[in-house]
Amino acid sequence: MHFSSYQNLRKKLLDREVSCEIVVHEYLDRIRKDQDKNVYITVFNEKALERARELDRKLESGRRPGKLFGLPMAIKDNISIEGAPLTCASGILSNYTAVYNATVVERLLAEDAVFLGKVNMDEFAMGSSNENSAFGPVPNPYDKSRVPGGSSGGSAASVAGDLAMVALGSDTGGSVRQPAGFCNVVGLKPTYGRLSRYGLVAFGSSFDQIGVLSKNCDDAALVLGVIAGKDAADTTSSYHDVPDYNAEMDAVSVEGLRIGVPKEYFPESLDREVASVVNCRLEELREAGAELVEITLPESDYAIAAYYILTTAEASSNLARFDGARYGYRSADTEDLGRMYVNSRTEGFGSEVKRRIMLGTYVLSAGYYDTYYKKAQQVRRVFLNRYQEALNKVDIIAGPTSPFPPFGIGDKMDDPLEMYLADVFTVPASIAGMPALSVPAGFDGSGLPVGLQLIGNFFDEGRLLGVAKTIQKVQEN
Ligand code: GLN
Repeated sequence: MHFSSYQNLRKKLLDREVSCEIVVHEYLDRIRKDQDKNVYITVFNEKALERARELDRKLESGRRPGKLFGLPMAIKDNISIEGAPLTCASGILSNYTAVYNATVVERLLAEDAVFLGKVNMDEFAMGSSNENSAFGPVPNPYDKSRVPGGSSGGSAASVAGDLAMVALGSDTGGSVRQPAGFCNVVGLKPTYGRLSRYGLVAFGSSFDQIGVLSKNCDDAALVLGVIAGKDAADTTSSYHDVPDYNAEMDAVSVEGLRIGVPKEYFPESLDREVASVVNCRLEELREAGAELVEITLPESDYAIAAYYILTTAEASSNLARFDGARYGYRSADTEDLGRMYVNSRTEGFGSEVKRRIMLGTYVLSAGYYDTYYKKAQQVRRVFLNRYQEALNKVDIIAGPTSPFPPFGIGDKMDDPLEMYLADVFTVPASIAGMPALSVPAGFDGSGLPVGLQLIGNFFDEGRLLGVAKTIQKVQEN
């Protein structure tokens, strides 16, 4: 059973050619057979089937099916689903069960989506390879010796491996886009504030956004429309109107579109094949009537430094709540209160999370605050201004999603700085809070996927999806 898009599945469901139960059964079956791939942390076997049967009865009784009726989805394991484990792929939450639904989860349920389970990730979304998971790495579906990217590695691998039709991930500095690029799927990070973060476990709160991973742009547009919008439970969520993203997307024409191509996104060090695949797609857009405009974003070199100061600072504060007293894991060695805190955190967190808590605490400490944290905040403002200026001149910005193709499992684990460079091109949109997506651009000589990133102005998701859809269409022809 294969469905090219949700539209295709939906039609079959509504025409009663197939039942939700059969579809969900099929996906669960694939997940079971795929066990060694480690994509899911929790599978909702019986619960998902129960839900599917309930939806079948709903249709039977003549009630109106929701916009996502029967859509089989995977949810990253840092998003709350009431009554389900919420581990963030961390030892410290290994025994924790969520007590409420994230707002995005409520909205998906209200439109009749089905959750298949919770998927693997880097611990607390810190990483670029899914190797920082207490549950072990996830192989890339295109080459099992390589990483699927991260931190939403499970989300990307689930969609690429047909273990879910659409997945939710989260993106703080590239965690939806980079794995999407590595696994040949579409990955959209919306504008900061486009949707509610209520129920998403916080990493860097002023960066975090929930994003959508899917095989095609239609599905991404549809799901975004359902989960976007103001939420009283998240004061950073925006009142900005939620358009019909599918309609906006389909109205986009690349004829006359001004595409900014920053020369800093094509450095000497860029993998040659990645560059050539991305350039091919850009050339096709030019042939279709777009104008390629060379632009320069000279501050790009500071992106990684500013990002890792600001997000570790926020993480050190956000993760203070995991102290052995309130959530999850508590050490057996709790002789006094201090020992309980220290031991619970020492035993519960993995090494990358500890590294970031220490780094974040350091940059916020008296004496270093002005030198590092305050400086990075100033750099953030400069970035925002530069990207805004650029997007006054061009309609969108395009370049590679990642500077290299998926790398081998273990290859970068001993060198955190090298790992951080996986995000050089994705971090700027996160610093600026702008929407960005990765769209499959093709394959390198070894058959490894290459992603193309598009960055847009605030709330311009419809345009990003429209251009991405054109890129996908041109490749199909
Ligand atoms: N790889 C980046 C990091 O480790 C981005 C993570 C993310 O977007 N959640 O911080």
